[in-house]
Amino acid sequence: MTTPDSTHRAVLLTVDDDPGVSRAVARDLRRRYGERYRVVRAESGESGLDALRQMKLRGDLVAVVLADYRMPQMNGIEFLEQAMDVYPGARRILLTAYADTGAAIDAINVVDLDHYLLKPWDPPEEKLYPVVDDLLESWLSSDHRPVPETKVVGHRWSARSSGVREFLARNQIPYRWYLSDQAEGRRLLDAAGHDGLRLPLVIAPGGEVLVEPSDQDLAAQVGLATTPAEEFYDLVVIGAGPAGLGAAVYGASEGLNTVLVERTATGGQAGQSARIENYLGFPDGVSGAQLTDRARRQASRFGAELLTACEVTALEVNGPTRTVRFADGTAVSAQSVILTTGVAYRMLDVPGIAELTGRGVYYGSALTEAAGCLDQDIYIVGGANSAGQAAVYLSRGAKSVTLLVRGQSLEASMSHYLIQQIAAIPTITVRTGTVVEAAHGEDHLEALTLRDTATGGTDMVDAQRLFVFIGAAPRTDWLEGVVRRDAHGFVVTGPDLAADGERPAGWEPDRPPYHLETSVPGVFAAGDVRSESAKRVASAVGEGAMAVMLVHRYLEGL
Ligand SMILES: Cc1cc2nc3c(=O)[nH]c(=O)nc-3n(C[C@H](O)[C@H](O)[C@H](O)COP(=O)(O)OP(=O)(O)OC[C@H]3O[C@@H](n4cnc5c(N)ncnc54)[C@H](O)[C@@H]3O)c2cc1C
Repeated sequence: MTTPDSTHRAVLLTVDDDPGVSRAVARDLRRRYGERYRVVRAESGESGLDALRQMKLRGDLVAVVLADYRMPQMNGIEFLEQAMDVYPGARRILLTAYADTGAAIDAINVVDLDHYLLKPWDPPEEKLYPVVDDLLESWLSSDHRPVPETKVVGHRWSARSSGVREFLARNQIPYRWYLSDQAEGRRLLDAAGHDGLRLPLVIAPGGEVLVEPSDQDLAAQVGLATTPAEEFYDLVVIGAGPAGLGAAVYGASEGLNTVLVERTATGGQAGQSARIENYLGFPDGVSGAQLTDRARRQASRFGAELLTACEVTALEVNGPTRTVRFADGTAVSAQSVILTTGVAYRMLDVPGIAELTGRGVYYGSALTEAAGCLDQDIYIVGGANSAGQAAVYLSRGAKSVTLLVRGQSLEASMSHYLIQQIAAIPTITVRTGTVVEAAHGEDHLEALTLRDTATGGTDMVDAQRLFVFIGAAPRTDWLEGVVRRDAHGFVVTGPDLAADGERPAGWEPDRPPYHLETSVPGVFAAGDVRSESAKRVASAVGEGAMAVMLVHRYLEGL
């Protein structure tokens, strides 16, 4: 039922139980308004309401509703009353016979009727069109915009609502966010037939409804691939940050049958950056989202397969075959693997934080949560560039931003250009020598206890949002016993594997490991996950490209 046409033209809905009359109204309406409006016809109040609910979920606009007064089961006034709950802005016309004029006049009060029309309305040029013209004019003068994109109805302080929004935002799926306790949110819940006890509700552009969806459900719904098309590839790249995207672009463009597997969303850490100022070729900076979008399109254009919401949980080595196992138990095999799983935010380990995560406490979700920070006093923990970027970004809408830094100054941990930007923004305060000691709140974050590291003194501040950027660590436990890692979990590669002059245990080739090769031949690592890597976008992309060159060398030697 959804066509580009149907989503762009507002609807004129006519409801009449007499098929002859119903067709005649629709015909007259189409004749004059058919080019600009979509005329929809229903033959009972119930089916009219069903149609309205479907249109609501799809984000269609409804301009005018015409209903016959005398209908069995549900009369026109009852219908218009319920229609008003779904589309309060639609103009309402009641069609009545002369004998029912009294009822029509009463309806003006009951359903705030805009007009009643006596049947028959011939000639329409005199009796129907002038009325509809007037109502359309007044409808058009109020603010109406279709909402054809995905809609998310949720609770302000629900961790899963926050997770769903972040997943959609990071995958660059446009969506509109509705609070479940506000009028339009409630209307959408009613239209979907849900009481709001289980949230969030995600309504796809076609009107399909998902309740508390997992990332995989969401990915499938919005058309992101989640399962590999083939069983065997030349190259599996694990992690779609800059290093993985770089590897996928070079792998696919150089003729390797390549699949890129990502747990959450393409872009990795870089995708969460509001502005990357120092990436070569972008003198005015580039947002992480833009860079990611371009890289993803580039990888797809060269034929790389991209899987989203697909977490890798094991790597198995069987002779020359490398098998990558996913969280759902399925697997894919390849001749070679590039590990580009980067790092993930380190958790803040103080009382109250775990319970309030997603309910006012966020890890790196500054972009998604920015709209909720308007006119609020917000706190950011961290003294590195990611914290600084978030402070600058959030200061645009927040009343105040307080940056909590453990060290005694920012100089040691943040780039000079960011320190200067922060100093120039009056609403940002930097509190050095300060740590969060505890977070408080019932349903959501309400206050923080802060401690001065020099004096040990504490104070309690009101806070509704805290963003945590306290460094990152690799999550590579799943490689335990397969690939050698350093004491911090970073993957050891190339010359570092043979630092003591020995080759890695079990190493079979009669050559030393290539520069980015791990302790398993044919398995490479690039970007932040690699031990001693530079932790920069440019170096991650460069290593991704270099790893592909080494994959070719490895495959030639097989
Ligand atoms: C807010 C912020 C701002 C930054 N700004 C800059 C900047 O201005 N300039 C700069 O040079 N650098 C910047 N950085 C650093 C830069 O983003 C990183 O160095 C870069 O993203 C590293 O790329 P990567 O591909 O190695 O790893 P990541 O970007 O960490 O990507 C790794 C990907 O692997 C996925 N993954 C992890 N485990 C699995 C698994 N088991 N299965 C499937 N997928 C998995 C993750 O979900 C992630 O998408 C910034 C970082 C942050 C957080």
